[in-house]
Amino acid sequence: MMVLPKFEYKKARSVAEAVTLYKQQKGKARYLAGGTDLIPLIKHRLTTPRTVIDLKGIGELKSIDRRDGWLTVGANVTLFDLKNDPVTGKYFPALYESLDATSCETLQMRGTIGGNILQDTRCLEYNQSLEWRTARGFCLRMGGSECNVVKGARTCFANYCSDNAPALISLSAEVTLVGSEGERTVKLGNLFTGDGVKPFALEAGEILTQILIPMKKTKGAYEKLRVRDSIDYPLVGVAVSAAGAKAKVCVGGVGLAPQVYDLKNAGDAAAVKEVADKASTDSRPVANATLTPAYRKKMVGVLLKRAVKRALAEGK
Ligand SMILES: Cc1cc2nc3c(=O)[nH]c(=O)nc-3n(C[C@H](O)[C@H](O)[C@H](O)COP(=O)(O)OP(=O)(O)OC[C@H]3O[C@@H](n4cnc5c(N)ncnc54)[C@H](O)[C@@H]3O)c2cc1C
Repeated sequence: MMVLPKFEYKKARSVAEAVTLYKQQKGKARYLAGGTDLIPLIKHRLTTPRTVIDLKGIGELKSIDRRDGWLTVGANVTLFDLKNDPVTGKYFPALYESLDATSCETLQMRGTIGGNILQDTRCLEYNQSLEWRTARGFCLRMGGSECNVVKGARTCFANYCSDNAPALISLSAEVTLVGSEGERTVKLGNLFTGDGVKPFALEAGEILTQILIPMKKTKGAYEKLRVRDSIDYPLVGVAVSAAGAKAKVCVGGVGLAPQVYDLKNAGDAAAVKEVADKASTDSRPVANATLTPAYRKKMVGVLLKRAVKRALAEGK
């Protein structure tokens, strides 16, 4: 087991206190929620914060409320609690299924929805020990001059592996962010930059405080490709949420940002095939995850069709 390097630990009691603590550290701090993504990154020296600011003690980030036509979910709500909230299964089946498919229940009880959305992107050439990466030579994202997977490429092909962000995007979710400049709410789908070095459009020190989901009953499904059903990250993940004939489809697990597609008539097999073919063509998996790029590319279309079919089935 790799040993953690030393860092200072601070526990914030409010969002305002966390923002102030971050500012005092002049860019050398990281926020901590469940720690299931951050702590392995620190162990691998992929990030070496001077200070870790624990958000778990902030009560205002822990509630789930219905307000003004939205379900508001605090960023510190665990995946397990969100999955087991009766509203999730009843109104948002795609989200219920994505939460249920996230790793295993032990991790769901520790990991938070905020941390899940803001988890780092992953690559077989990146998520390795410092010794391994030093021997291999640093890639673009670690300050090197090119990608280690696609030789000569000056862009990053790491995968964004949140199971739940695609489901939330299919539900048109928004997120509230609080920083030293104040508060703003943006569409979750607009949080992604497509830049491997800085994958999220967040200002330094901004805290994701809540996720807002329109309180509209949907039909939905989430399909996930992984090697071990017991724990693995998605190698492709497809979420579909439908209200009436209209559906929103979101593909994750391939590349730096989830891709969204609108389906005007989810019951029209030809229209579904067209979107499935487009999503498969748009996806650009490379050899940076288990399973071959060709197989993952094909499975984008297969899972999309499967998810739409299941979403529309009675009883879902
Ligand atoms: C073995 C294993 C299997 C996994 N499998 C899956 C999987 O199948 N699917 C999946 O989606 N994920 C998976 N994960 C990734 C991750 O553990 C989960 O996504 C988890 O929900 C992350 O939440 P956390 O609270 O532990 O985040 P943390 O590790 O605490 O934080 C993650 C990141 O978000 C930042 N952060 C956290 N909260 C906030 C906030 N409120 N505002 C601003 N920044 C914040 C942190 O600084 C950090 O950069 C897996 C992890 C492990 C170790």
